[in-house]
Amino acid sequence: MINKEEFQDEIGDNHVSLSAKNPLRDDAFDISDEEKIEKIKKDFESILQTLGMDLTDDSLKGTPNRVAKMFVKEIFAGLNPKNKPKASTFENNYKYGEMLVEKNIIVYSTCEHHLLPIIGRAHVAYISNGRVIGLSKMNRIVQYYSKRPQVQERLTMQIVQELQIALGTDDVACVIDAKHLCVNSRGISDIESSTVTSEFGGKFKDPQARLEFLDYIKMDTKF
Ligand SMILES: [Zn+2]
Repeated sequence: MINKEEFQDEIGDNHVSLSAKNPLRDDAFDISDEEKIEKIKKDFESILQTLGMDLTDDSLKGTPNRVAKMFVKEIFAGLNPKNKPKASTFENNYKYGEMLVEKNIIVYSTCEHHLLPIIGRAHVAYISNGRVIGLSKMNRIVQYYSKRPQVQERLTMQIVQELQIALGTDDVACVIDAKHLCVNSRGISDIESSTVTSEFGGKFKDPQARLEFLDYIKMDTKF
């Protein structure tokens, strides 16, 4: 028998994703960003105090406020739906019917089990069924869902689902290859390993389309 805390440690250390939605409470946005920053600042002061740090030191003085602002306005800004990019789409006027791949989109996310960075690349593809989306919109969607406490499996699925809704098609795929600092810099401390996740929707479930997508990812783009 393991107790609840041990079970949660187990989930964290094994990086198991339990849900495609980020576990947010209903009251998550009842208070403003400014109120959150104020609360988190106090919480961080307390953490640093407990660790024995001297918060009157010039170098440390501003840290709780910096961390609080960074949490709310930067690295976890994607929790708030008001920061969601508008995924406007356009008529596919040129009738391009092949796969479109946006590759090497840089991913900066944060592991929700250890709150350490996840750094890597996302490769996203879709086959238009009449609508197209601006190329940079795909980068923005990746960024938005990355700016949350995340697990990589969920992030991959959320990117695909968002594009499926925006484009009105199931034919969307995403592969993410990323390093988790909780694996690379602590715990097992394996600096070389990276984690690959993929989600293939609609036509991408076909092995041929899947291979084509993966071949494009491997292409070495020179310019
Ligand atoms: Zn982790």
